[in-house]
Amino acid sequence: MKWQLSKLQLYLLIALGALLFTSVWSYTAFLNIEQQNEKVANEAIPLSNTASQIYPLMLDQELSIRYYVYLQDESSLQQYELANIRMHDVVSEIEELDHSHPIMNQIIEEEALPLIAEMEQFHRQQIGRIQSGRVDEANELRNSQRSNLNILRFVNDKIQEDNQAIILEAFEQSEAAANSARWVILIVSALTFLIFFALVHSFRVERSQKALIYKSLHDALTGIPNRRAFDERLEEAWREARQLNKPLSLILVDIDAFKAFNDTYGHLHGDACLRNVAQVLRRLVKEPALPARYGGEEFAVVMPVESAAEARELAEEIRKEVLALGIDHSGYNPLCKLTVSVGVSTMVPGLYENESELIERADQALYQSKEEGRNRVTVKNIR
Ligand code: GH3
Ligand code: MG
Ligand code: MG
Repeated sequence: MKWQLSKLQLYLLIALGALLFTSVWSYTAFLNIEQQNEKVANEAIPLSNTASQIYPLMLDQELSIRYYVYLQDESSLQQYELANIRMHDVVSEIEELDHSHPIMNQIIEEEALPLIAEMEQFHRQQIGRIQSGRVDEANELRNSQRSNLNILRFVNDKIQEDNQAIILEAFEQSEAAANSARWVILIVSALTFLIFFALVHSFRVERSQKALIYKSLHDALTGIPNRRAFDERLEEAWREARQLNKPLSLILVDIDAFKAFNDTYGHLHGDACLRNVAQVLRRLVKEPALPARYGGEEFAVVMPVESAAEARELAEEIRKEVLALGIDHSGYNPLCKLTVSVGVSTMVPGLYENESELIERADQALYQSKEEGRNRVTVKNIR
C-alpha cells in the first residue's frame, strides 16, 4: 500500500516542526539573557568593590595632607603619596571595568573623577605651600576641602546604590527569564504531546478508513474484489479504452451445476469451492485486469487488451485451471468434477455505446457455453 500523508497530517507535522523550532529558538534566547545578566552581575561586583575604595583612600589622603600641614613631617607626606598611588590604581581599574552601565559611568566620569582630580590638585598645592615655607597660608586652607569630601562621600554612596540596583535588576531579569523559559518548555511540551497524539489519532482514523474502504470493495467470502469494485473498474476501464481507442474485454465465469454441488456436499463445502475458484482467478489475472465476484457463483474479469485473443486465452486458462483443481462433483455427469462455463466479449468502446453492451454480449456468450454443454469458452466479439 502506498503511504501518503493527508493534508491534516502534513499541517500537523509542519506545526510540530514550527513548535520545535520555536522552542529551541526561545530557549537559546533565554539562555542568552541569562548569560548576559550573569555577566552584568559579575562585572558589577568587582566594580563595586573597587569603587568602594575611593572614599576611604580620599579620606586617607586628606588626613595625611592635614597632618603634613600641621606637622610638616616626611612620614605624613609618604603616607599621602602611598594613598595617592593607590587612588590612581583604583581609578584606572574602574576605567577598565566600567563600560556597560550608563548610570555608573555617569557618576564616576562626571562626579567622582573631577572631584578626585580637584582634590589632588589642592593637595599638591598644599604640599607646594609647605615646601616653599608658606605654612600660615596652608594652615588657613587646611579644612577648605571639607565640602568636597562630603560630596565624595555622597557620590560613593550613590555608586554603591547604583551597583546594588544593577545586581538586583540582573538577578530579577534572570529570574524572569528562567520563569518564562519554564513556561515555554511546559507549553511547548504540552502542545507537542497534543500534536503528536493528534497525528497518531489521524493515522489510526486513516487506517480504519482504509480498512473500511477495502472492505466495501472486497467480497467477504472469497477476498477478491466485489461487484461494486467491478462496476467502478469497468466504468474506468471503459473510459480509458474509449480515450485510447483500444479494445476492452469482459470475461464472465459461472460454476456449472453449482446448485447440485451445494445439494450434494452442503453449503460450507460450496463456500470453500467458491474460494478455490476465486483463488484461481486471483492467480491468473494480472493488472491492469481485475477479477471480481460478480454475484452468487459467478465471477467476472474486466481486462484492457491489445487484441481479443488475449481475453480468449485467459478464459481458456481459467476454465482449464478450475478443472485442474480436481474438485469432485459426483452429481454432475459426465466429468464428475467441478467445471466452469465462460463467456467472453471484446469491443472497442464507441462514442455512443456504453459498458452494458459489453456485459450483455459476454452474458450471451456465457449462456451459449451453458447451452452447448458447459465446461467451455464462448467468444462473442462486437465488430
Ligand atoms: P448452471 O450450471 O446452469 O449455472 O447451474 P447452477 O446450479 O450453477 O445455477 P443456479 O443459478 O441454478 O444455481 C446457483 C447456485 O449457487 C444456487 C446457490 O445456492 C448457489 N450459491 C450462490 N451463492 C452462494 C454462496 O455464497 N455459497 C454457496 N455455497 N452457494 C451459493
Ligand atoms: Mg449462475
Ligand atoms: Mg452456475
